[in-house]
Amino acid sequence: MTTITAEIRTLLGQVGVPESAWTGGSLKVRSPVTGETIASVVTVSPEQTDAVIAASSSAFAQWRTVPAPQRGELVRLLGNILREYKEPLGRLVSIEVGKVLSEGLGEVQEMIDICDFAVGLSRQLYGLTIQSERPDHRLMEQWHPMGPVGIISAFNFPVAVWAWNAALALVCGDSIIWKPSEKTPLTALATHALFLRAVKAYGGVPEGLASLLIGDAATGRQMVDDARVPVISATGSTRMGRAVGEAVAKRFGRSILELGGNNASIVTPSADLDMTLRAVAFGAMGTAGQRCTTLRRLIVHKDVYDTLVPRLKQVYTNISVGCPLTSDALVGPLIDGNAFSAMERSLEAARKAGGTVHGGGRVDVNGAASFYARPALVEMPQQAGPVLEETFAPILYVLKYDTLEEAIALQNGVVQGLSSSIFSNDVREVERYLSAAGSDCGIANVNIGPSGAEIGGAFGGEKETGGGRESGSDAWKGYMRRQTNTVNYGRTLPLAQGVKFDV
Ligand code: NAD
Repeated sequence: MTTITAEIRTLLGQVGVPESAWTGGSLKVRSPVTGETIASVVTVSPEQTDAVIAASSSAFAQWRTVPAPQRGELVRLLGNILREYKEPLGRLVSIEVGKVLSEGLGEVQEMIDICDFAVGLSRQLYGLTIQSERPDHRLMEQWHPMGPVGIISAFNFPVAVWAWNAALALVCGDSIIWKPSEKTPLTALATHALFLRAVKAYGGVPEGLASLLIGDAATGRQMVDDARVPVISATGSTRMGRAVGEAVAKRFGRSILELGGNNASIVTPSADLDMTLRAVAFGAMGTAGQRCTTLRRLIVHKDVYDTLVPRLKQVYTNISVGCPLTSDALVGPLIDGNAFSAMERSLEAARKAGGTVHGGGRVDVNGAASFYARPALVEMPQQAGPVLEETFAPILYVLKYDTLEEAIALQNGVVQGLSSSIFSNDVREVERYLSAAGSDCGIANVNIGPSGAEIGGAFGGEKETGGGRESGSDAWKGYMRRQTNTVNYGRTLPLAQGVKFDV
C-alpha cells in the first residue's frame, strides 16, 4: 500500500466514512498528486437515484415546517463539526484535487464561513410590506421554502460549492441532493459523513434531508430532468451549464448556473506595480490555474508594459512547482493528463496566432502518471484564438493597451463574464471601470486580482458564466419562492384600478 492510499484510509476513517463506500465500487478515484488510483467508489443506480429524490421530497415536506432559526441550529452545528475536522478534510481536498495544503484548508474555511453566514441569515429571511392603493388593505411579500435543491459541483472546489448551496438551502427550509464531480467523490463522502455528525448532534432530522448521489453526468442528467427537484444549482463548464439550463427550463424549473470564466485584469499607468505583481502571481498561478476566477488575461498599459512584463517573467521562472503534500511549492499538479494536453494545445494555438510563450511544459515531480506543468506567460499581439477561451490550466495571456476604453473593450470582448479587476490609483479610471459602462462581469475588483472571493458578497457572473448568484448578499432568494399577499381587513371589497363589479 502506498503512502497516499494509507493516508486516505486514515483520513476517511477519521471523518467517519465506512470503508464499504470507497472500496469495491466501479468508480476509480485517482490522486493527481501521484496519479495513482486511491479508491474504488460505489456509485448509485437510476433506481436508487429515483428513491433518493422521493425521500428528499418527503424530507422537504417536514423540514419546511421547522422554524428557520431552528434550521439554522443544524447549520451552526455543521460549522462546528467542520472546524473540528478542518485538518483532515482540507488534507483530503489536497490529495483528491492536488491543491497546495493552505488552499485545501482554505476551502474548508470557506465552508465554515458560509455556515456562519447562513446561521445569521436564518433569522433574517425578510419579506417586504408594501403600501396598498385600497383602503384597509395590506400588501406583503413572504419567502417560503422551494423544495429539494439539486447541487451539481465541479472538481476544482469539491466541497466549498456544496457548502455554499447547502448552508443556504437548509436554512431556507429546503432539502438537498448533491451530485459531486466524478473526479472528487472521496471529499464528497467525507463531507457527507461530517454532515451526519452534525445531524446526530442536532438530535435527528427527516430521513433524506441531505443526500449524496455518486455518479457521472448521466446521474446528474437524471436529477436535472426530474420535476420533483425545482431548483438545480450547477457549477462547472459552460458546456455542462448549457445542457442543464436548457433541460431545467424545459420543465419550468429554476437553475442557478455558475460556469466558466475568462477573467482579466487591467494594469493602468498609476498602478502600484509591486502589489500588482503579487496579485497577478496568485491570481494566475494559484490552484495551478484551475479556479473559475483564475486570472487568464492581463491587459497592460503601454507605458508600464516594459517595466511589469520582465518582472513577471522572472516570477514565472522562479515559481515553485511541486508536490502539494510534501513540499512548500505554490503550484501543484493539474487534475489529469487531459488538462495537460489542453494546456499544450492552447499554447500551440497561441504560438500560431503570433504569441510569444514563456514557460509551459511538463515538470517531473512524482513520475509519469501525474501531470505537473510550469505556468506559462504568453505575450499576445491581439486578443484572438485561445485567448477567447477558458483553458483550465495556468496560462496567462498578456496584451498591451493604449486607452482605458480600449482596455475595457478588450476585457469585455469575450463570451464569459465572471470576474475582473483593475490596478489603478486614479479615482477617475477606477470609477469609470466600476460604472455601467465599465466591467461587464459579476465581480469587478480594484487593486486586487479577480480570484479569492469572500463569503459576504454575491458570487457569480454574466453571459456564458450563467448569471447565477450564490453565497452572500441576497443569493438566498434563489432557494426560496416569493409569495405576494394582499390582506383586506375592512368590510368592503374595493377592486384595484377602480374596477366596478357589483353583483
Ligand atoms: P464539468 O462541467 O466537466 O463537470 C461539472 C459537473 O457537472 C460534474 O459533476 C459532472 O458530472 C456534471 N455534469 C456534466 N454534464 C452534465 C449534464 N449534462 N447534466 C448534469 N450534470 C452534468 O466541469 P469540471 O471540469 O468539473 O470543472 C471545471 C469547470 O467548472 C470550469 O469551466 C470552471 O470555470 C467551472 N467552475 C465554475 C465555478 C463558478 O462558480 N462559476 C466554480 C468552479 C468551477
